[in-house]
Amino acid sequence: MGTLGWIIPPPRRPRKTRGQLRGERAERVRRLMEEGLLNSGALVEAMMRVPREEFIPEEYRDYAYLEVPLPIPGRGSTISCPHSYPLFYEALGLDRGDSFLEVGTGSGYGAALAYEVVGAMGRVVTVEIDEETYRFAKRNLERLGYTKIHVILGDGSKGYPPLAPYDKIAVTASCPSIPEPLIQQLNPGGRLIAPVGPADYPQDLILVEKELNGSIRSKKIDEVLYIPLRGEYGWRARTYRV
Ligand code: SAH
Repeated sequence: MGTLGWIIPPPRRPRKTRGQLRGERAERVRRLMEEGLLNSGALVEAMMRVPREEFIPEEYRDYAYLEVPLPIPGRGSTISCPHSYPLFYEALGLDRGDSFLEVGTGSGYGAALAYEVVGAMGRVVTVEIDEETYRFAKRNLERLGYTKIHVILGDGSKGYPPLAPYDKIAVTASCPSIPEPLIQQLNPGGRLIAPVGPADYPQDLILVEKELNGSIRSKKIDEVLYIPLRGEYGWRARTYRV
């Protein structure tokens, strides 16, 4: 990640108490709302409820509520910075009852937030390609009781056909272009969000809408920085450094 320009704070033994971290969580949520980055009531509640610090390796835990991505086990994997979750989920219009696919489980934090939003009537499927990252996420989610989330080890650039179609899809790694199988696995009326572009800043954050008649509209909504998507519809290993 260093090569991508983020400054990762130095690892250190955690010193903050649970209470301190809970306070920082409330403060982060308040700031995101104040800055106009977080507006949906369901997502505010989710961000208040899900302990982000539980999705971060011990040596970075004290930094849980800083606006930076942090390293997690696996090749180049990170937990994205806090504001990126409302950025993605509000653009998607993620809602109660949605069937949601996440490509790039990472820490599992984004899947837990999504689960809190879609609720028991919805469904969260998340796919991770890196086995070490997958194991880390699965452990985190199980420890916190998120046993209904479908955590899949595999190439999410091809989506996950067994549980398709999906109402909403989020790709949390940067794609060369929107992977065709993901568009196919999107319900009519559904939305997909993905960073598109090479491994160096900036990548375009693209929101795709599939109309009820099946036609596709897409627009750029922001510029972001994500690690490269691997797999069949991702970047080939030689084309990027992490
Ligand atoms: N959403 C995560 C952050 C993801 S970081 C969170 O909330 O913590 C991006 C992740 O995408 C990395 O873990 C990386 O291993 C994974 N990834 C990259 N290419 C992938 C692919 N083709 N399929 C599934 N996961 C992929």
